[in-house]
Amino acid sequence: MEALINQLNEAQRAPVLQKDGAMIVIAGAGSGKTRVLTLRIAYLMHQGVDAFNILSLTFTNKAAREMKERISKIVGHTEAKNLWMGTFHSVFAKILRSEADKLGYPSNFTIYDSQDSQRLIGQIIKEMQLDRDIYKPNQVLSRISSYKNSLITVKAYFNNPELMEADAMAKKPRIGDIYQHYVERCFKSGAMDFDDLLLKTNELLTLHPDVLLKYQNRFRYILVDEYQDTNHSQYLIVKALSDRFQNICVVGDDAQSIYAFRGANINNILNFQKDYKGVQTYRLEQNYRSSRNIVEAANTIIDHNKTKLDKVVWTANPDGPKIKVHRSITDAEEGRFVASTIFEQKMLHQKMNGEFAILYRTNAQSRAMEDALRKRDIPYRIYGGLSFYQRKEIKDVLGYLRMVINPKDEEALVRIINFPTRGIGNTTVEKLNIAANHYKRSIFEVMEHIDKIDLKLTAGTKNKINDFVTMIKNFQVINETQDAYYLADYVVKKTGLVQELKKDGTPEGIAKLENIEELLNGIKDFTEGQKEVDGARGALAEFMEDVALATDLDNDKGDDDRVALMTIHLAKGLEFPTVFCVGMEEDLFPSAMSMSTRSELEEERRLFYVALTRAEHQAYLTYAQSRYRWGKLTDCDPSRFIEEIAPQYLEFLTPPETNYRYKSGINSDIFGDVDKSKFRQTKPVSGTPPKTLSEINNKEEGPQIRKLKELSKAISSTKGQADTSGLEQGQVVMHERFGKGKILNLEGVGADRKAEIHFEVGGIKKLLLRFAKLNVI
Ligand code: ATP
Ligand code: MG
Repeated sequence: MEALINQLNEAQRAPVLQKDGAMIVIAGAGSGKTRVLTLRIAYLMHQGVDAFNILSLTFTNKAAREMKERISKIVGHTEAKNLWMGTFHSVFAKILRSEADKLGYPSNFTIYDSQDSQRLIGQIIKEMQLDRDIYKPNQVLSRISSYKNSLITVKAYFNNPELMEADAMAKKPRIGDIYQHYVERCFKSGAMDFDDLLLKTNELLTLHPDVLLKYQNRFRYILVDEYQDTNHSQYLIVKALSDRFQNICVVGDDAQSIYAFRGANINNILNFQKDYKGVQTYRLEQNYRSSRNIVEAANTIIDHNKTKLDKVVWTANPDGPKIKVHRSITDAEEGRFVASTIFEQKMLHQKMNGEFAILYRTNAQSRAMEDALRKRDIPYRIYGGLSFYQRKEIKDVLGYLRMVINPKDEEALVRIINFPTRGIGNTTVEKLNIAANHYKRSIFEVMEHIDKIDLKLTAGTKNKINDFVTMIKNFQVINETQDAYYLADYVVKKTGLVQELKKDGTPEGIAKLENIEELLNGIKDFTEGQKEVDGARGALAEFMEDVALATDLDNDKGDDDRVALMTIHLAKGLEFPTVFCVGMEEDLFPSAMSMSTRSELEEERRLFYVALTRAEHQAYLTYAQSRYRWGKLTDCDPSRFIEEIAPQYLEFLTPPETNYRYKSGINSDIFGDVDKSKFRQTKPVSGTPPKTLSEINNKEEGPQIRKLKELSKAISSTKGQADTSGLEQGQVVMHERFGKGKILNLEGVGADRKAEIHFEVGGIKKLLLRFAKLNVI
């Protein structure tokens, strides 16, 4: 232990050695904050603090696991096992389970993922007969989520005229009603969504002082990593739990606060001193991660932000190579550059794939990178796409397992009631749903009593419903005595899910089968692991809890060597020898959606700071002069962030003077002899156009309200683009990319309206009018 502490520098040692009291460590990227937290925990235990009394909250479950492993090595596995460690969501889900009855929830409540939540909101919107183009489920969900994270319950919403007015102004006066239905339906299904895990914890701690006291006494020492990204709800939980003993240590970097769009509140870090008595503030200044060029370049970036704490970050590491900047003509070419650079580096310097990370602003950018890496046979892994547990075939199996644990789970039920098909069609499900809403019961409860309720169903249908109920109950009986693997294997066979895919026989079907097999292997691993640990049965409920809160970063076992692809948001806290920041273009990074206020732009800049500081040795900044966005070929300018780095840290691999659009006469092959000036792209839809600096500076409304108003504007302006209702067969139209063409046929309505067009150059194409901006000529 002493030896480990001696490896720390003096500034790092101080917060490790201070046993009691409130302390905050504010320090730049790579200065050892996470390392300090880890050693602090080990040292607390070394001084006799019981592991049960330590709560450590991290940004990902993976980070928690890694920390635990390191601590195990120091204090031993048996002791470390008792630490409370994880993300806010996973720790408080566990607490909510044991206290669920106090909130009127069953302890086996389901955790809805965002797909479940979105589907349910879609269903409610349909039942309320609202226009889905105005009330887009994902946007409504993010609104509800922002309310929940600010602790605005349905009741609080309806007591707040300002919020209601903001929604009404955005032409969505029914948001509150949707919110109310959504909350009721979740409750009826015995389900909580991600935000509920925090909201309900707050409710629990506020309404039940005895419960609060119990957990205050348990968690005598609390530690929080990435404190700058806690939202209001998380802040209140930490505050309540630490209030009694005030042994709290938070670490963070205001320059890395990147989740304001999800309600993270940087004031939590700025106000920490006011929240506790005698707060000790520690600053770490030495960066151990990155070469000097990277550290200093990152400093010059963050200097452009007005809102920041003054910090020094320096490093004793060697200068290292300069940051390389590369321009390409298209996004495909950008992908090829990245792939061939990785390829060369591997060949020339025997590097591993795992030493490279490709970071981007939006998930959609991964495709060009993937294509290029595949062509070079470079193995890669994408984090944050559709995670394993969200794939259809996996969610189908999990749907059955969820029903076993909580048969009220409406989303699971709707998913599997007729899959594989068993003759319970949509009309029947609709009737069941209406009855369930009427009786304020779950659909499954209605099904259990189907013989007593008159829903005008045929005897055949009733039989099928009874069979389904019996099947689920049968699974439940097995679950009482068998482990999770036995049950899952039984369910998969009994329901015919596997047979269905085997019959299918297509490559996609086979891939799905393999995924199910992989899931079963995972469950097997889990049950074996559980049995080894403490002779437990390896019960399904525990497995499902893990799954509900898993992110694919967590599933990374690091056992195979792959290039990592992820958004910058996900990369927080991680480090890689070589980092490519791709898509360094105006409107993409900084994002077009985030340039209407200074604070949004500053958040984008912090995001860039996070991206660059992931690199240990070499960073690349790449951009393309054109890329497909929203289905259109868009011209791009290099990101202002490149210019913001002092030039002595940069090496331009392509001449910077040609960084301006149209100079090189590119795209002539695409546009042919058409007049390009006609096709200057309009900016992708954004709430408000960028404003002058003085306008931005003058805009200082209450942050919460402002955010909500902006959200309103953004939502209302993403409505359909061009009016295509006047198009007719036979008309000659102009398309931005394909040029002149004649409409052969029109089909579909609304957002799904399509046109079949014969283009002079490209031949016959079917286009979705929503995306294809056509001009009649
Ligand atoms: P971020 O802000 O990105 O989360 P951080 O401040 O949490 O960064 P760490 O991840 O803890 O920084 O540390 C960065 C790197 O520096 C790690 O590889 C860590 O092992 C190393 N490091 C930290 N402190 C020291 C030290 N005193 N001696 C040697 N290496 C160190
Ligand atoms: Mg860290």
